[in-house]
Amino acid sequence: MQFSPSAEQTELVEKARAFTKEYIGPNSMKYDRSGEFPREICREAFKQGFMNPHIPAAYGGSPHTVLDHCMVLEEMATGCSGIATAIDANGLSQYPVILAGSDDQKRRFLAPMTEELMFSAYAVTEPEAGSDVSRVKTSATKMGNDYVLNGIKWWITNGSVASWYFVLARVDDKPTAFVVPADSPGIIRGPKEINLGQHASNTVRVTFEDVKVEERNRLGDEGDGFQIAMKTFDHTRPGVAAGANGITKAALNIALSYAKRRRTFDKKLISNQGISFKLAEIMTGLDAARYLTYRAAWLFDQGEDNAREAAEAKWFAADVAMKAAIECSQVLGGYGFTTEMPAEKLIRDAKIYQIYEGATEIQKMIIVGKLMRMKEVH
Ligand SMILES: Cc1cc2nc3c(=O)[nH]c(=O)nc-3n(C[C@H](O)[C@H](O)[C@H](O)COP(=O)(O)OP(=O)(O)OC[C@H]3O[C@@H](n4cnc5c(N)ncnc54)[C@H](O)[C@@H]3O)c2cc1C
Repeated sequence: MQFSPSAEQTELVEKARAFTKEYIGPNSMKYDRSGEFPREICREAFKQGFMNPHIPAAYGGSPHTVLDHCMVLEEMATGCSGIATAIDANGLSQYPVILAGSDDQKRRFLAPMTEELMFSAYAVTEPEAGSDVSRVKTSATKMGNDYVLNGIKWWITNGSVASWYFVLARVDDKPTAFVVPADSPGIIRGPKEINLGQHASNTVRVTFEDVKVEERNRLGDEGDGFQIAMKTFDHTRPGVAAGANGITKAALNIALSYAKRRRTFDKKLISNQGISFKLAEIMTGLDAARYLTYRAAWLFDQGEDNAREAAEAKWFAADVAMKAAIECSQVLGGYGFTTEMPAEKLIRDAKIYQIYEGATEIQKMIIVGKLMRMKEVH
């Protein structure tokens, strides 16, 4: 066991920090206010090799390990987690193709994404199927060599900028995975949702009306879709936790800097234990969340089952981020509530980490599921 990053990891983190300082941080409030998709920042991230970090070298990628990627994402989310989500969201739809796609599918859907800036989206959630993914109703009806898709997917990140969608649909009663090009006739993209936070990230409804999908775009066999959709989270949840850690770090730095300079009752705020203990608790939470995150990522990189560890990292890091953002606002007093300082944005941005890619309660159900199979915990 060792706790220090390698020289390569340190260099990568420094590069991500410099990118964040130059492109993300200074633009975070602009995109938060406008809700515009940060395409130009994504373009720069693409140029610098920060997008699509999981596409295998055989398909043109220069892959990072999941652990390296978590370190990068934490840095980017420190600048703005909405922009970091826009940069990172491709991974959620790409991983099912990496996991279950044929060589031909990888060539057609992954390789082009290494040549130019492109986006893709994971379209699973429906009005009646969020946490309970097995209830998806979107239908895929076999017609000759094609399937015809009908249904509604909502709250789809990257939904209106994607070139293709990973879609979970039922063939008869079997949840089945497809890759669906976004220019297929019958796809209707809704307007951007007005969300509480992460305004730079694009969330929309995507409706499928008699959308023809070629059989060669089915991932795996009919009935494999649920497993493919769920296994993907073992890969992506450490990254979600890392994004939450970025918020925690930002909250800590803002609160620390303010508490060191603000004076009340003839002394600096930080001289009061009531304030300084908040900072100590956030620091401890950040360290604990980071180690959970790194372990979940590392296990994945070793090819080991990380479902429990990824679930632990995801819910814990999200709760730490939420608490850190609220405490940061408290340390800032009035500034913690106004839009002159970013504490209020951190509160709004942190909340989604407790919800998407499996809400906190669902992560705890995964952990309990594993505990039920253990005789005792070592
Ligand atoms: C900004 C944003 C981006 C998103 N991006 C995507 C995307 O790219 N692709 C995609 O497919 N989906 C996406 N989603 C959907 C997201 O994954 C779901 O919202 C999430 O999984 C929760 O599902 P739900 O909203 O239907 O809540 P529900 O399943 O209705 O759950 C409601 C609440 O009850 C809790 N709960 C549910 N069942 C239980 C239980 N058995 N025991 C205890 N508690 C329970 C949940 O944890 C939650 O807190 C996104 C959502 C948002 C808001």
